[in-house]
Amino acid sequence: MPIDATAAYDDGNIFARILRGEIPCNRVFEDAHALAFHDINPQAPHHVLVIPKGRYVSWDDFSARADDAEIAGFVRAVGHVARAAGLVAPGYRLLANVGRDAHQEVPHLHVHIFAGRPLGPMLA
Ligand code: 5GP
Repeated sequence: MPIDATAAYDDGNIFARILRGEIPCNRVFEDAHALAFHDINPQAPHHVLVIPKGRYVSWDDFSARADDAEIAGFVRAVGHVARAAGLVAPGYRLLANVGRDAHQEVPHLHVHIFAGRPLGPMLA
């Protein structure tokens, strides 16, 4: 079910539980600002999620409330994860769903990294 992106942060959401180590993930990167792990239901040969360590519901919440160090750290982490996987030359796609119409399902900001095949034209 899509979430309400205007709702308050829910500490019981699945990615909060992954951050606390209560649920395992297939981790590819972690630093002070971000955790990256493989999506449990990959939509491309390479499908990784990058999440900030802070409590942010969505990109909207993050861009409004996070401080500059968190934003810089998270953006750099996303770039690092893609570079470290060798995705720059073949190319990759970033996606962040926000709220109901975008069908965001997990109420903790996550950026999808899709790669590993031609991804086709951008879907609107
Ligand atoms: P959204 O639709 O919110 O942008 O994407 C949520 C993503 O989280 C989906 O691609 C889904 O497969 C992934 N996901 C949901 N639960 C889990 C989980 O427990 N572990 C992992 N690794 N991915 C999950």
